Amino acid sequence: MTSYDYDLFVIGAGSGGVRAARMSATYGARVAIAEEYRFGGTCVIRGCVPKKLFVYAGRFAGEFEDAAGFGWQLEGLKFDWPTLVANKDKEIDRLEGLYKKTLKNADAVSFHERAELVDAHTIRLVSSDKTVTAKTILIATGGHPFKPDIPGAELAITSNEAFHLETLPRRIVIVGAGYIAVEFASIFNGLGSQVTQLYRGEQILRGFDDDMREGLAEEMGKRGVDIRLGAQVSEITPDGQAYSVKLSSGEMLDADLVMYATGRAPNTSGLGLEAASVEVGKRGEIVVDEFSKTSRDNIYAVGDVTNRVALTPVAIREGAAFAETVFNDTPTKVDYDCIPTAVFSEPEIGTVGLTETQAREKFGDIHIYKSAFRPMKYTLSGRDERMIMKLIVDAASGRVIGCHILGSDAGEIAQSVAIAMRMGATKEDFDATMALHPSAGEELVTMKEVWQGE
Ligand code: FAD
Ligand code: NDP
Repeated sequence: MTSYDYDLFVIGAGSGGVRAARMSATYGARVAIAEEYRFGGTCVIRGCVPKKLFVYAGRFAGEFEDAAGFGWQLEGLKFDWPTLVANKDKEIDRLEGLYKKTLKNADAVSFHERAELVDAHTIRLVSSDKTVTAKTILIATGGHPFKPDIPGAELAITSNEAFHLETLPRRIVIVGAGYIAVEFASIFNGLGSQVTQLYRGEQILRGFDDDMREGLAEEMGKRGVDIRLGAQVSEITPDGQAYSVKLSSGEMLDADLVMYATGRAPNTSGLGLEAASVEVGKRGEIVVDEFSKTSRDNIYAVGDVTNRVALTPVAIREGAAFAETVFNDTPTKVDYDCIPTAVFSEPEIGTVGLTETQAREKFGDIHIYKSAFRPMKYTLSGRDERMIMKLIVDAASGRVIGCHILGSDAGEIAQSVAIAMRMGATKEDFDATMALHPSAGEELVTMKEVWQGE
């Protein structure tokens, strides 16, 4: 019988890799894990966590404005970017320490260096030039920001650098209109930068419900973000300390910083996947089955590197399901239905289930319930902003199949609604639920159908 150094070798100590390593070790596996950058991965080091801390920072601007209507007089307000960055860094260091400790407590061996496959059971640790063997290998290498190949693209930053800027840009151009672009447009706008957001398509956040997309674009505009639709960058050139951004329409924009948030690509290059005969798809993603197994029986992959649903809780679930399947003798698939998600823009979007367009395609006969209202808080603050809530119901079964919210705490509300939707709640169940008053969430149990006539 072949003996291996480890039962499991995990490449990448991010959300998926750490969960899989820790659980597999708990089930008795001899586990090693390699991380080339920082333990905790994208979410903890340069994704969800620092992003949300920046979101909180940006939101104070609106809170201060709203406070006046409640009698608060705020004078001499000042924002200090280096303080925010330094405090955020301290928190990220603390969290990285916790991740390392978790792995140590689980008796997983950690290598702080890049790992690559030599063959289906052999891993090379690049800096120490050591090879180790493992019976099972899990690839959880995540992804990296993708920038289109236009002249001057190298002058633009991505979300990776946005967390470490020495100064807050006075004018920033953000390219893209997915989660990251929209969230950072709101962050920089809140912190006082003049933000221009450029998107090639017809409306921001393709793939989200149209009412949310339109509603958010309108509210972001009111808050001062200059969203330009149908805008493509053709060239970026340096201009002293600043940049000139040329659009394909010929228009020129000046900015102190240009940020690209045009998607992410899986980290698969140079990983030795060919040598291990692991199949890679068109976008460089590792192809896996429903148990996260690759084309090689002993090699698995979870998280962003598989290009399924690029969200932290999903990577964690995939990592956990892998450990259950391989090291606890319990074949486990991840349920991708009813994944709640939030865009931490200002205002925020919280959503779960199908958009109206998807629901019409899938179910045909649907009922739409919609409500747009001025939240109570803004009656005194005077803010001209409306909250939008929308439920989509399958006419045949009465089940709620989509819920979309734009406004404060939308993500928090969507998380709870997701539980009800997963359990198959109908609109009748929503209506039979007592309202919690006064709250925004109570709208969800009192909504009337939108007239769908000609
Ligand atoms: P990762 O967390 O990316 O971990 C992969 C790790 O592998 C990295 O640490 C990398 O350094 C390491 N690695 C790569 N190659 C090698 C190698 N050859 N050897 C050793 N180590 C290697 N998701 C949410 O759910 N909510 C959010 O609010 C949210 N906000 C985000 C904000 C930003 C700016 C970004 C970029 C992402 C955000 N995400 C969010 C997405 C989320 O971060 C990812 O879906 C999640 O981190 C994926 O986890 P993972 O384990 O697949 O990969
Ligand atoms: P997204 O895929 O969400 O958005 C990419 C954006 O860039 C889209 O607007 C896309 O336009 C545009 N784009 C793509 N290619 C080009 C190009 N060549 N030229 C111009 N524009 C282009 O990616 P993000 O980078 O925003 O985020 C990556 C993933 O990370 C997200 O999809 C999400 O899964 C995760 N994430 C989750 C967050 C959360 O949960 N709150 C926060 C941040 C990230 P088009 O639509 O026309 O293709």
